[in-house]
This record gives sequence, structure tokens and C-alpha cells, in this order.
Amino acid sequence: MYSIVELIGRKRDGKRLADDEIRFIIGEFSADRMPGYQMSALAMAVFFRGLDDRETAVWTEAMLRSGRVLDLASLGAGRVDKHSTGGVGDKISLPLAPAAAACGVIVPMCAGRGLGHTGGTIDKLEAIPGYDVALPVDRFSAVLREVGCSIIGQTEEIAPADKRLYALRDVTATVESIPLITASIMSKKLAEGIEGLVLDIKVGPGAFMKTLEDARELARRMVGVGTETGTKVVAFLTRMDEPLGRMVGNACEIEESIATLEGRGPADIVELTEVLGGAMVELARGVTFEQGRALIAASLKDGTALARWNRMVELHCGDLSRLPKPTGKTPVLATRSGYVTAIDGREVGLVGVALGAGRAKQSDRIDMAVGIRIDRKVSEFVNAGEPIATVFHGASGAPGKAHLERLSAAFIVSDTAPPHRPLILERIG
Ligand code: URA
Repeated sequence: MYSIVELIGRKRDGKRLADDEIRFIIGEFSADRMPGYQMSALAMAVFFRGLDDRETAVWTEAMLRSGRVLDLASLGAGRVDKHSTGGVGDKISLPLAPAAAACGVIVPMCAGRGLGHTGGTIDKLEAIPGYDVALPVDRFSAVLREVGCSIIGQTEEIAPADKRLYALRDVTATVESIPLITASIMSKKLAEGIEGLVLDIKVGPGAFMKTLEDARELARRMVGVGTETGTKVVAFLTRMDEPLGRMVGNACEIEESIATLEGRGPADIVELTEVLGGAMVELARGVTFEQGRALIAASLKDGTALARWNRMVELHCGDLSRLPKPTGKTPVLATRSGYVTAIDGREVGLVGVALGAGRAKQSDRIDMAVGIRIDRKVSEFVNAGEPIATVFHGASGAPGKAHLERLSAAFIVSDTAPPHRPLILERIG
């Protein structure tokens, strides 16, 4: 009907594509009638020329329609999910989903795996022996009906056009395009049959969005696509420089999440869980944000969120009593006394990946016991010779000197404490 070459040329020249042209492109790509080299060329044209709001919304909708859209309406109203653009030590989904469920939200969460230096919720859940991340839709619905939350991996049926396009973008240097990221994330999230979505858009050196301006634009686009498709979307811009919490890895992040559900989580994890959860309760139940936040805070203290978590894990066949344990520990000692003024989260994430806590390539196997504990967070004081971080060993034993030196170099220690910087930067939508 249309000439793909002509459409690529139009975008290359900075022209806008009509709704039907975008639907044609995604349709042809999904049906395997548009080769990868043409889609890669188009992705590069979009990278440089962009998509306007309407083009982004139609592109998202077309990718959403390339697969199955879950119909969870029979579960009732109040279906709200959360998505984070990815960070280091970002385990928020694990305490958040059961806490929101304990406050009356239905959370059908299809989560992702680690990407680059950032960890993924599904990899972390797979640290729990037996936890099934691939429940069929009828069992997913049954868990949601009983518990109020279920966390599974992206199925083959959800937005398959995005899955193929993402694989091309990954190898053609076209990931960092705001409209393509918007369409990629929103097509997958809207396929969950949700009524509301809370976004955690990470900003800083440890995140994909390095500047506040880019993060704001991504938030504006995602909220816009939500509005066009009738889904309520709220976005928070949150700081991602030092890792979130004290644990970076898989089994150790599960343990930190359980501590949070037991009311003894690190302050930043608790704050983010309360804020994102507060907005989820607001969207699902029509209460104010402050009321929602208070409900989430209470659920983390009174055991109701923990009870939902335990039941969810049980129904997913997970056995928390067999969580992998480290085979040993190696401390990284501070070379001077002072206040920690910065921690390079990206470096910590990359050392974690190099030690086996993540994947350098898709076929790599994760060692679930490997992890890094941050013994001193930003603003905390350390004496020379005290541990600033601790590496948890996996099957391959103690880390080499180069990894320990790289980890040590990720910490900046100075004489004066840094000024306080808020974790939550802005709310949009
Ligand atoms: N995560 C996604 O799912 N898609 C992107 O494009 C970037 C991050």
C-alpha cells in the first residue's frame, strides 16, 4: 500500500508520518514483511528527527496491538501498575506490589530483566528457588484475584513488535530515543489491561536519562500517551546516582526487600516505596496522595504487605527458605577517613555484572548469590580501614584485585559532608 523506502525517506527528511503510515510500518514489521535493515534505518531516522506526540501515540498503539492485550476487567476496578526506567539496587517493585495490594490496589505487573548496568525485577525473583515467572494468564489472574498482586516476566504475546524492535535498537545505537523509549515502555504496560500507571523515571549518572530536561521530556511523553489511550499516568522523576538501598545483586536484594516489608528497610527504599505506592493508591481508590502514602506506610509496619508478599511467592511456587547464600565475603576498606560524598552507581552496577550478578551478554548465567553491600552511603562517615563496601561471593569465589580496586574507586570520600539532596525531584501528571 505504501512504499517503506519512501516512508523512511520522509522521516529522514524530518517530515511527520500519518497515522495509517505508522500502522502500516508496524504491521509490515510484525508480519515479517519489513526486513530488519529497513526498520533499523527508520529507527535511526526517528532517533535524529523524533516523533511528535501524535506519532508517538499511534506508534505505541500499533505496537500494543501487535500482540495480546490482557482483559483483566473481571478482577474489578483499581488495576494500577508501576514501572521504573531502571537503576542500580532498584528493588522497589518487590515491596511495592504487595504493599499496594494490601491497600486495595490490583497490581498486574509484567516486569523485565536486567539491562546494561541496571538490575531487573525478574532476575531478582528468580533468585527464589522455584519462583515461576512465566505463569499462564489464567494462573496470573487467579493469583491477582486472591492476593491482589502478581509479578511475572514479559510473555511472548505482549507487544511482540517491541521485542523485535528493541533487539534491533540494542545493536544499532538507537536505544536512547525519547519517543522510541516511550512507545516501547508504554506498549508493554498498556497491554497489561491497567487503568493507571505510576512511572519512576530515574535521572542521573546511574540512569538512562542523564539530565533533568531529558527525564522531564520522557515523563511528558509517557503521560501524554497515557492520556491519549485513556490511562491515568503519574510520573515521578527520582535521583539515581548512588545505588538504592544497601544491596546490589539478586538474592541479597530479595533479603533487603523482605526487610522493607518487615518495617526495617533502608530510608531511601522506604521513601520511594511510600511515594510510588501512595500515587498507586491515589489512582486506584480516588483518595489523596497523602492518604495513599499513609496507607502504604502502615502496610509496611503492620505486616499486611509482608503477608501478601509471602502468599504471592507461595502461589508462584517459590521457596524463600532456600534463598542462595554467599560462599564468602570480601570487604573493600576505606583508604582515608571522611564523609562519603558520592558513589558512582553505574560503576557499582558494572562491577556487579562483571562478578556475575548480571549479564554482559544475553546468554550469560547469573550467579544469584553474588552481590555488593554498600556499607557507607552518601553522607555517612567512614574511618580509614573500615569497610566501605562488601562483596558477596558466588560459585567462583573471591573477586580479583582489579574488581575490588574498581569498586573502591566508585566511592568519593571527603572532609566535609555533602549537602542533602532530595530523592524525589518532581511529580508530573
Ligand atoms: N526499557 C524498555 O522497555 N524500552 C526502552 O526502550 C528502554 C528501556
